[in-house]
Formats: sequence, C-alpha cells, structure tokens
Amino acid sequence: MKYLSTRGDAPVLGFSDVLLAGLATDGGLYMPEEWPTLKQPSTARTYVERAVEVMLPFVEPDIDELTLTHLATEAYATFRHPAVVPLVQIDHNQWVQELFHGPTLAFKDVALQLVGRLFDHVLAQRGERVTIVGATSGDTGSAAIDGVLGCENIDIVILYPLGRTSDVQRKQMTTVDAPNVHAVAVEGTFDDCQDMVKAMFNDVEFRQRNQLSAVNSINWARVMAQTVYYVTASERFDEPVTFSVPTGNFGNVLAGWIARKMGAPIRDFIISSNTNDILTRFINDNDMSARAVIPSLSPSMDIQVSSNFERLLFEMNGRDGGMTAEQMQRFRATGNLAVEADQRAEFLSGSIRAAAFDDEHTLAEMKRIYDVTGGYVVEPHTATATAAARMLSANDGRGPVITLATAHPAKFPDAVEQAIGIRPALPAHLADLFDREERTQTVANDLATVQALVEELTAR
Ligand SMILES: *Cc1c(COP(=O)(O)O)cnc(C)c1O
Repeated sequence: MKYLSTRGDAPVLGFSDVLLAGLATDGGLYMPEEWPTLKQPSTARTYVERAVEVMLPFVEPDIDELTLTHLATEAYATFRHPAVVPLVQIDHNQWVQELFHGPTLAFKDVALQLVGRLFDHVLAQRGERVTIVGATSGDTGSAAIDGVLGCENIDIVILYPLGRTSDVQRKQMTTVDAPNVHAVAVEGTFDDCQDMVKAMFNDVEFRQRNQLSAVNSINWARVMAQTVYYVTASERFDEPVTFSVPTGNFGNVLAGWIARKMGAPIRDFIISSNTNDILTRFINDNDMSARAVIPSLSPSMDIQVSSNFERLLFEMNGRDGGMTAEQMQRFRATGNLAVEADQRAEFLSGSIRAAAFDDEHTLAEMKRIYDVTGGYVVEPHTATATAAARMLSANDGRGPVITLATAHPAKFPDAVEQAIGIRPALPAHLADLFDREERTQTVANDLATVQALVEELTAR
C-alpha cells in the first residue's frame, strides 16, 4: 500500500514511513491510495485474527503477516476482556461496544497499544531511536505512555499542566516505573504545554538532534487500528448497523467510515458532541466556525478544530489535494471552513447525522441509562452518544444502533457520582493506583528549561 497526502504536495510513502512521519511535509494527512476490500468470508475466530485480516493490506509489504500477528497479539493481550471490545445490549436494538478494557481504561488504548509496538518494530529494523514528546490534559498521555512501555527504541516525555489533571489521570502517568517514561508537570496550563511541544517541533535543530516524534491522533496507524472494531461489531448482526460515536478529533468516526468503505455492513453514523459542537453545527447547518473552547464534563471532546476532519474533507473533495489545501489554509486564517452546500449535502446524506448535548443533558442521560438498564453505568463522553442514538435513531426501524463507549466510568468518578450518586470503583488492575509511588518532576513554564530537561532525560 502507498499513501498520499490530503494536500497533494508531499512524497508518496509506504506504511512504515507514514507511521514514523505522522504529518506529511506539505502539512497534510496521509491517506491510503485505495481502499482494500475486507476479506470475505473471514476465517478469523478471534478479534486479533480479524484485526490482522483487516489491517494487513494497509501495512504490506513493509510489515508481513507474521509480524503483524505477533504485534497485534501482544497489543490486545493487554486488554482485560477476552473479547477485547465486547458488545453489551442496553435496550431494544440499542447496544454499547465497550472500548475501555485496555490498560488505561480509554478507547485510545485500542490504537496506541498497537501503534507503540509498530513504532518499536520499525525503529529496530532501521536501527533508529526516537523521543516521543506530547502534551496532555489527561487521557491521551497515559494511553501513549502505556503504549510504549516495553519499547526499547522509544523514550517518551509527556508534559501535563501541574494541578490541572484529575488525580486518576495524573497517577496513571506518574506511577509508571519504566526507564523510558517521563511524565513532567509544567507550571502552566494545557495550552502552555501544547505550545511548548509545538515549539520543540518547530525548532528544527532541536527536533533533529533529539529525533523527536509524535503519536498524535492524526497518525494514520491510529485510524487504521480503529477500523477493526467497526468491522467486528457490525459483522455480529444480520442487518446493517448504525454507529453512534462521541467525537472530538474525528479520528474514531473516520475509522468507521473507512470500515464501511472496505465493505463492513454499516448503514450510517451518528456523531455526538458536548457544547463544543463545531462538528454538529457543520453536519446540521453547514457552519464550521471555530469558537472558544468551553470546559465540560467530557473533556476529551473539548475541542474546536477536529484534526482528522481533513481526511473526510479530502474524500468530500473527490481526493483533490489542491482544493483541500486551499480550504484548510482559509480555515486556519479565518476560523471558518466553507464547503459547497450541495457537495456537503450529497456527501453526508445517508452517512453522518449529529447531535450535541450540554452537561445537564449528559448527566440526565447517565441517570436514565442507569435506571432503565437496572444499573449499567456510562461515563459522560459515552452518554452524549447514547443520547444522540436515542434522539436520532430510536425506533426508526433502521436496525441496530451501536454506541461506542470510549472510556471506563471510573475515569470520570466525579461526573458519575453526580449523575447516579455512586462512585465507580477502579477495576482490579488499577485498584492500588493510589498507593503506588509517583515519579514526576515539576518544571517552570519556560521553553529553554523544558528543552534542557528533555535532553537530560533522554540522554544515553
Ligand atoms: C479521545 C476521546 C474521544 C474523542 O475521540 P476522537 O477520535 O478524537 O473523535 C471521545 N471520548 C473519549 C473518552 C476520548 O478519550
């Protein structure tokens, strides 16, 4: 498989180069040159076997079947459920797919457990090392750290804002005892952390000297890994399904859209958001204008610009890279993305519907689910999507609706307690989290200081 940039002006690359590069040199995102067709009939008996069938065409010839099988087996052995991503029925024709049984209790583990291992494999092959630097407001940091835990060719430095993550989120990052893992508290905000990461990447000399790399959500391999659960879930039903997806950077629902392109029996998609509803406004009113981010109970969706949306735009534009580049540049400059109304309508019809819910509705939905199911607990991100599923699809005769549960309720104990009056317990493998020793350091909100620390931490 070869990959091309959504902005049409970067070298065409194979899988391994795309994996390590992340962003294309023209600022675009990599997309496969063509969509492979799902292997039918499948001979897979397990999630991992189906994962290998689904992903193999995307990674060949750079990575062979045996290697992919080995890496996927290791990645998904870290999940605490034998089905990896089990389906749970919550109502007539309403299902939840639990994507949170990975080590850090967030759906990002599905991608990052595999991507860390893919990175390490390719780096070992090439005799290279990288330092992954990232900023986190909480969830992504721990999933990225856990994804590279045993990796010999990767150091990881994660910056988080001192005192501004939840205790669970901080502990998940700081109690990891591995020589290649460094969680650093910055005396500043999440935006300060993110600005410093950007500045380190823009400092070309520093970037090259330290072999900086990123595993952010625009990395193609993350999207690829996520297509698998759409395939396995939809294949469990004997009529096409609808997925309802709590959406932030658009990576998750994009993976579903790709699964459908490959032939998975998917009817359409519903995306949900909180009050940060730029995507919902785009889908419903053709209004893609960025506004200030408002903090909510579902912080992983507190996003204004959805980075992976560019991949869908590229498809909407009939894969015209020049047109996509122009639209994205105008969006950056003006905060407003203009798409032809009929082009958008034609593309979206039968594909994507959307709804947004504020915190009050989200809490009410968590309580409603708890009551009607006799005790099933969902966290706030998931609740926006069950609410959207019910509002847009309940009893419309369209067949099963599967809501993706993107985090374990114990990751958001305060919101859950507020909704149902019960504090969810951490699962067994994290039950002693609060007794584990924290290893962290605090640095001033100053680029030169942070750069010096990155060099010191990763020196060998
Ligand atoms: C990251 C995240 C999302 C948003 O996923 P995208 O791929 O960015 O759309 C939703 N819910 C949770 C819990 C997340 O961590």
